[in-house]
Amino acid sequence: MKVPHRLYLTEDQMPTQWYNLRADMKEQPDPMINPATMKPAAVEDLYPVFCTELAKQEMDATTRYIDIPAGILEMYKIYRPSPLIRAYNLEKALGTPAKIYYKFEGNNTSGSHKLNSAIAQAYYAKQQGLTSLTTETGAGQWGTALSEACAYYDIPLTVFMVKCSYNQKPHRRTVMNTFGATVIASPSDTTNAGRAILAEDPANSGSLGCAISEAVEKAVSTEGCRYVLGSVLNQVLLHQSVIGLEAKKAMELLDEYPDVVIGCAGGGSNLGGLIAPFMQDKLTGKAAPRVVAVEPASCPSLTRGKYAYDFCDTGKITPLAKMYTLGCGFKPSPDHAGGLRYHGMSPILSKLYHDGYMEAVSVRQTDVFKAATMFAKYETILPAPESAHAILGAINEALECKKTGEAKTILFGLTGTGYFDMVAYGSYIDGTMSTYVPTDADLQKGFAGLPTIPGIQ
Ligand SMILES: *Cc1c(COP(=O)(O)O)cnc(C)c1O
Repeated sequence: MKVPHRLYLTEDQMPTQWYNLRADMKEQPDPMINPATMKPAAVEDLYPVFCTELAKQEMDATTRYIDIPAGILEMYKIYRPSPLIRAYNLEKALGTPAKIYYKFEGNNTSGSHKLNSAIAQAYYAKQQGLTSLTTETGAGQWGTALSEACAYYDIPLTVFMVKCSYNQKPHRRTVMNTFGATVIASPSDTTNAGRAILAEDPANSGSLGCAISEAVEKAVSTEGCRYVLGSVLNQVLLHQSVIGLEAKKAMELLDEYPDVVIGCAGGGSNLGGLIAPFMQDKLTGKAAPRVVAVEPASCPSLTRGKYAYDFCDTGKITPLAKMYTLGCGFKPSPDHAGGLRYHGMSPILSKLYHDGYMEAVSVRQTDVFKAATMFAKYETILPAPESAHAILGAINEALECKKTGEAKTILFGLTGTGYFDMVAYGSYIDGTMSTYVPTDADLQKGFAGLPTIPGIQ
């Protein structure tokens, strides 16, 4: 069979259920802990922050398949199914016997996979009769995705945007404004969390963790408002499983199965979604694909972090999650892998990594942009810097195949496009881009702030 360059499933081949990976895990991630009681969090503990249906999804470790509501499928169909692409030209340029496939999630205005979960979260909030939502955004993709979803379901949205991105990417802000969202640079003087950080450090350029704290504070102090988060959480990985389910179905139509599945890892949502059905095969003994997370050397939570309970935010308001973390006080350098600069990693992926089901590598920024520009030339898609981590991972696998002569099948996630990252591309092209790698002493500062939990850590 001749594999087409781009395979699009038809609308009726789209998944109608999400897949919940936890249902097939031999051991569950450790439970979230309520920092007020230092006891495992109950679903009710989440209700002040998350809407009810999403709090339930967050805690549900047993329902294997969850129906995607018709109101969500309706919006999914505006930009899905997303194509599975065979990277023929990249393969040729690399001279590799490997077959490289990628699942492209950049086909919507947010330019990333994040819309898959934004839609679900906005939909359930509307169903519950909530009157507003709030969130944080780092590089801007999540804020844009949620703005799109909130516009569609007609819910007002406030986005706390990490200050350095707010200043670096004014057009991102305008896109969010176009969809009707209010955008505030974080740290801001609109919350206690923001004011506390500014009092200590007026020039603070912001971080995802700090923006999360501000958004959570606004949610719990505003009637009818809830907080939504674009990554890390179990519910987000659940929604993102649509990526993997489509990819697996498309590969089945081609009579293909990946030997290795590769994704970039920030908070872990695209990777968790892409690998979900393949990891299911691995957990149930049906197949044994390798799974590789690629993270930036500047923010190496899996490869150099500690597996420990930590807050999901700098303001220490969220429940504690057991995950690979650099410490919620870790300050990543303001480099360009915006969407990957998060101190922690999805508890589900952390557990799988800890138990040996997954590998992780860290890569340097300049190498990432070298891979990004090569990919752009041969595949004509300008990748997001985050996605380019996965591209580099795939290129490295393919070059390994060239050495060994193996014709492996490689699948990677191309999570988005990089049109708002031209400052980063520019600095790569003019040779001023640096690669920051934290020292052990830098990391030690973050670890020193890990919480103490009596009897646990
Ligand atoms: C946010 C983002 C990521 C990283 O987030 P995950 O939750 O780790 O998937 C990767 N790629 C793009 C394009 C993003 O916007």
